[in-house]
Amino acid sequence: MNNGRDRFMGRTAIITGAGSGIGKAAAIKLVQEGANVALFDMKDDRTAEVEQELNSIRKGCARAFDVDTSNPERVERSVLEAVEIFGGIDIVFANAGINGVLAPIEELSLEDWEKTLDINLNGTFLTVKYAIPHLKKRGQGSIIITSSVNGTRVFTGFGMIAYSTTKAGQVAFAKMAALELARYKIRVNVICPGAISTNIDQSTDRQGDLDEITIPIEYPDGGQPLADGPGKPEEVADLVAFLASDESRHITGSQIFIDGAESLLR
Ligand code: NAD
Repeated sequence: MNNGRDRFMGRTAIITGAGSGIGKAAAIKLVQEGANVALFDMKDDRTAEVEQELNSIRKGCARAFDVDTSNPERVERSVLEAVEIFGGIDIVFANAGINGVLAPIEELSLEDWEKTLDINLNGTFLTVKYAIPHLKKRGQGSIIITSSVNGTRVFTGFGMIAYSTTKAGQVAFAKMAALELARYKIRVNVICPGAISTNIDQSTDRQGDLDEITIPIEYPDGGQPLADGPGKPEEVADLVAFLASDESRHITGSQIFIDGAESLLR
């Protein structure tokens, strides 16, 4: 086992939502430790900048793909292209997600509900689905899925009904997939971050009368007792790297909270 800075040497990771926040931090971390990375994100310009930054760390290690993870054709095609460029896939970080529209249930349109499900849940399914044949060819693999404390331990994100539903769904998906894929030595784990400083507010659209459904709750002092959060994307990236590495070789189907104990307060 190698825990040095080259523990991902010769390995390739697909990272969705790699143009910002947690995905970007994970891409940097994996590249710093030797991996090649396929950056899947819709935002061409931002992702292109991440690609450039990574290739300045190690030339040729990163390639950006303009892919909407809710679009099956684009996911399938990009996975195949990534395999062609890098020779295979070892690690999949299914991380792309949006907060989407936050609204009372009766005011939430089916269209807005479906958009959040499409990106967060279908996107996870499609990323994993199209990567599996390539992980199988390697004889092992690590899949890491980004869920959240919302929908798993926290249910007071008033208005986040669609988001929380997808995050709960990702946990069930990860555990089912862990069992199904264990025979191929493919591990599947799911991480549940609390508040992390990223650009996720840009994908948040508050609509309708949220005050109407909010229950006033008085929390104890301190949002994240361990560090008075929010956490940093780099802290999540360290966990992703651990789960991607051989150090976690006996861990699968696990749900790991990374929130400085925020969700225990709520
Ligand atoms: P972010 O907005 O900084 O990054 C998300 C990235 O995903 C963006 O670059 C965006 O362009 C991309 N993306 C969105 N829809 C996409 C699609 N359809 N196809 C491809 N890429 C797409 O946010 P983040 O906080 O880094 O979010 C990453 C994950 O972490 C999400 O799944 C989110 O739900 C989860 N999460 C975040 C927090 C937090 O506090 N930031 C907490 C818990 C969970």
